[in-house]
Amino acid sequence: MTDEKKAVGIGYRQARYQEPLLFEMEASAKGRLIPDCPIEPDIVPKNLARTSLDLPELNEVDVIRHYTRLAEMNYGVDNGIYPLGSCTMKYNPKVCETVAGMPGFAEIHPYQNEETVQGILKCLYELQEALKEVSGMAGVSLQPMAGAHGEFTGILVIEAYHRARNNRERDEILVPDTAHGTNPASAAMVGYKVIEIPSKDGCVDLDALKAAVGEKTAGLMLTNPNTLGIFEKDICEVAKIVHDAGGLVYYDGANLNAIIGICRPGDMGFDVLHFNLHKTFATPHGGGGPGSGPIGVREDLVPFLPVPVVSVEDGVYYLDYDLEHTIGKVSGHFGNIGVCIKAWAYVKLLGGKGLRDVGEMSVLNSNYMKDLLKGTFGFPHRDLRKHEFVLSAKCPTCEGIKALNIAKRLLDYGVHPPTIYFPLIVEEAMMFEPTETEPKKELDRVVEAMLAIAKEDKQIVLSAPHSVKVSKVDETLAAKDPILSYKGLKAHK
Ligand SMILES: *Cc1c(COP(=O)(O)O)cnc(C)c1O
Repeated sequence: MTDEKKAVGIGYRQARYQEPLLFEMEASAKGRLIPDCPIEPDIVPKNLARTSLDLPELNEVDVIRHYTRLAEMNYGVDNGIYPLGSCTMKYNPKVCETVAGMPGFAEIHPYQNEETVQGILKCLYELQEALKEVSGMAGVSLQPMAGAHGEFTGILVIEAYHRARNNRERDEILVPDTAHGTNPASAAMVGYKVIEIPSKDGCVDLDALKAAVGEKTAGLMLTNPNTLGIFEKDICEVAKIVHDAGGLVYYDGANLNAIIGICRPGDMGFDVLHFNLHKTFATPHGGGGPGSGPIGVREDLVPFLPVPVVSVEDGVYYLDYDLEHTIGKVSGHFGNIGVCIKAWAYVKLLGGKGLRDVGEMSVLNSNYMKDLLKGTFGFPHRDLRKHEFVLSAKCPTCEGIKALNIAKRLLDYGVHPPTIYFPLIVEEAMMFEPTETEPKKELDRVVEAMLAIAKEDKQIVLSAPHSVKVSKVDETLAAKDPILSYKGLKAHK
């Protein structure tokens, strides 16, 4: 067997099936007929009533096998490494799912009396406390539903803070050029002007920052380690420059995985942050499930938090709406509670020592892979990385090959590609985040695939992928003119 075939596995399995749509399948037996409609036909206005229903009629075994085959074509963290930089696609311990699915959590109602849901309120309270502890913040609200939503909420807090001090001149948010796209988007959604701060050797350029701050500065949004995987060495100085100018400093907590248990944003001088529970605290996300983006704030910003937060008095837990300057509610009910419970279970499972191991192992795994690859691919900026690292496909050995080609070719090796073309400041960027949950042999598998691709015949790489059911898609057309329904597909054919 060639190296490629040995490594493939998943890719070849995908190729095995020519799976039709349910609509295109021929029934091996008649399915169950839909019974006559018990509703009086004239209840539905004539113009809205369907005259025929064009549904495929299949029996159970056909349907089950169809979906099982589709599931086998899928790739996720339960199949293998998923090294998408910035996304923290770590393996999620199944016990957290089991806990969140327990009837005491899953089958209660948001409008139940507080005395009947003391258990879950206690868990949420404990999660708030744990998040305060790992971030060095004074207060936490679990309301926001995702990282970007947390950013939006955090910027609302910053805006309310300046407004409460009658400081309406401050209408600028500073964002470094390494930032995730959601940072400028969130600031703009709140109504701020976004000012980009350039980097110098992979970190915030202090001189550029000093030149940009002033009476118009409401705050700075920063990720640390940043999206290059580099720890901002001047972080305390950065916070001081912004504070001295009267602004607040916002921590994008998406990269908390790298520093958890080791250092704390609160101690670095940050005033507001969000957590991506679905990244750092293990929850299947993206196509695998929803997220949660709680925010934390320093002491004097606690009265601005969205409500409710969970508080306790004499051993009784309650939903606390009584915050003096609250920005109000930012989600229905109390946030994505299922995700919060998974995060709570994860914290209980690992404990303080285990959470520190997460930080250390994620950094070790990333540097291990980086060291094996940096001699072959472009590797910009300083050497040491935290939990992720960025290579460039623009390098002497990759002449004529783009990051996209390498990503597609990795599919033939049964490896999920890294994030590509982000961060924007690295040409032909390939951003790897192995996470702490990958065993060494899985890291080696990715490294071997990458090194093999670097030596391959260029045409093979340029025309990849060769082994998957759907090979190259027209990405521009897919974005501009997506075919999202069976009807659309039929019309297109
Ligand atoms: C993932 C991510 C976000 C956004 O978080 P979501 O939960 O996807 O909304 C923001 N910043 C960085 C650096 C991220 O990696």
